[in-house]
Amino acid sequence: MRPGLVVSAGAATHAGLRRALNEDAYLASTPVFVVADGMGGHEAGDRASAAVIAEFAQCVGRPALELDDVRGALEVARGRVEELSTSGSGRAGTTLSGVVIASVDGMGYWLAVNIGDSRTYRLADHELEQITVDHSVVQELIDAGELSPQDALHDRRRNIITRAIGASSTGDADYWMFPAELGDRMLVCSDGLTSEVSDARIREILTATPDPQRAADALIDEAVEAGGRDNITVIVADAVSVASRPGTLFETDDDIDMDTRPREAAAGGVR
Ligand code: MN
Repeated sequence: MRPGLVVSAGAATHAGLRRALNEDAYLASTPVFVVADGMGGHEAGDRASAAVIAEFAQCVGRPALELDDVRGALEVARGRVEELSTSGSGRAGTTLSGVVIASVDGMGYWLAVNIGDSRTYRLADHELEQITVDHSVVQELIDAGELSPQDALHDRRRNIITRAIGASSTGDADYWMFPAELGDRMLVCSDGLTSEVSDARIREILTATPDPQRAADALIDEAVEAGGRDNITVIVADAVSVASRPGTLFETDDDIDMDTRPREAAAGGVR
């Protein structure tokens, strides 16, 4: 079976300048591109984020996943993290955010998942769109009209999340499913990036840096230079081939009926 969506990704993580331990963890390998930001004292956060990533790592190598696969992995991961808490690791917990390659009738889709305040964005046509919605106290205040997004950046409650995997939370993850477009660039990151670097600056760096690994490194550098007060993790995942209709693979497949291909591709170019 040919994949409906082929991704080229870069990723990087950094402890930052204030914390001895990096409690973030990530997985950036087809079909899973996710970040986990662990929390809890005595290395509990480290173990929680690692446990969730280890569960999703079992899906690596499959061309695509379904929603039930992601729900199932999350359920098992939640059990693992809760075990950590009862076995003396304090109230271990972690966020989870990112995208998984999915497929509908052979066409490539992004399946975004989120629980907590790590984030997933999409850069398309030079616009940066935040796909996920933070599960945080300040986001709830923004939604209620009681806090402006500007003030939220400096609010002392900005690190309090309202849902997590573990940490005594039973809150569900949010899911979004949408068709992948050739040229989509997905950004998955922990709040160590977004609390230091504005969305406008993130967009500039992503737009100016074609190589996904270099883009991830540049974003980490920017967050460290801005103060690096938290652990920072970044995944940049580019859609380099997308099936445009069932059974076809846009851009790389010479067998496609020329009439069905967009003009740019037929002329040998890529937008
Ligand atoms: Mn964090």
